[in-house]
Amino acid sequence: MLSAFITHPDCARHEMGPHHPECPERLGAINDHLLVKGLLDYMHTFEAPLATEEQLGRAHSALYVREIMAAAPKAGYHLVDPDTSMNPFTLNAARRAAGAAIQATDLVLSGEVPTAFCSVRPPGHHAEHAAAMGFCFFNNVAVGIRHALDVHGLKRVALIDFDVHHGNGSEDIFKGDERVLMCSIFEKGLYPFSGEEVKGLNMVNVGLPSRSGGDKFREAVRDYWLPALDAFRPELIYVSAGFDAHREDDMGNLGLVEADYEWVTRQLMAVANRHCHGRIISCLEGGYVLSPLARSVAAHVKVLIGAD
Ligand SMILES: [Zn+2]
Repeated sequence: MLSAFITHPDCARHEMGPHHPECPERLGAINDHLLVKGLLDYMHTFEAPLATEEQLGRAHSALYVREIMAAAPKAGYHLVDPDTSMNPFTLNAARRAAGAAIQATDLVLSGEVPTAFCSVRPPGHHAEHAAAMGFCFFNNVAVGIRHALDVHGLKRVALIDFDVHHGNGSEDIFKGDERVLMCSIFEKGLYPFSGEEVKGLNMVNVGLPSRSGGDKFREAVRDYWLPALDAFRPELIYVSAGFDAHREDDMGNLGLVEADYEWVTRQLMAVANRHCHGRIISCLEGGYVLSPLARSVAAHVKVLIGAD
């Protein structure tokens, strides 16, 4: 059965000015590399729908959703935080990025596809219940997860986050929501300087020191994530897939390589096969140097679609 590759041209029309690392070219680099590697042959490509106000409101406050919708500029940029701004196309890009997670949820839960990769931007995991920050406006995976819980009626969903930065937004939205188990590994001392304080019993946050490397990363997955996931028995697994922990990416210093992304995806597939019929939905988060980003996504997707 083919997997889903969900994206939309609107996602490349959002940009935050010249030299901004979260640039439209990221999606083109990923698409080109998956094509060259033959991986898109294993995937159905879907154009992401626009998430509705109601769907966004399951993860964000209604007031916040309305504020972002009203803040979209007709021309130029509207600054949301020092690193994050909206151009005239940002709102649709952000609604498509969240819409991709919704569509992925519907496709996977209907049994049409076993797994899905959402190649979308803006990313989402720094967006809180009522705040945009860190290049993020709507928390894409969180919107997808609440759709799975509140619309499809799932009882237990896992969220895995291996971006080099802590997913403060996802933590803010899901802390205390016992239907969700969030497992993250991030680099200590980096933006957004959160993740070390325990915010809820459903959070498994592991901060690693700079230059930990792949061995320490894998040890943390084995020691913390896998036992928690097996005890939780998720019905569906979402991944906040950021690739900025790669050693060629200057956003962080964890020193991972493609083989680490392939390995962690293999562990997650094994968990998914044990507990939830292999169902995984992965959404792009960070990863800013084009070549290692594209290579890492390919290593991740190859396992996700069973082409390895
Ligand atoms: Zn990041």
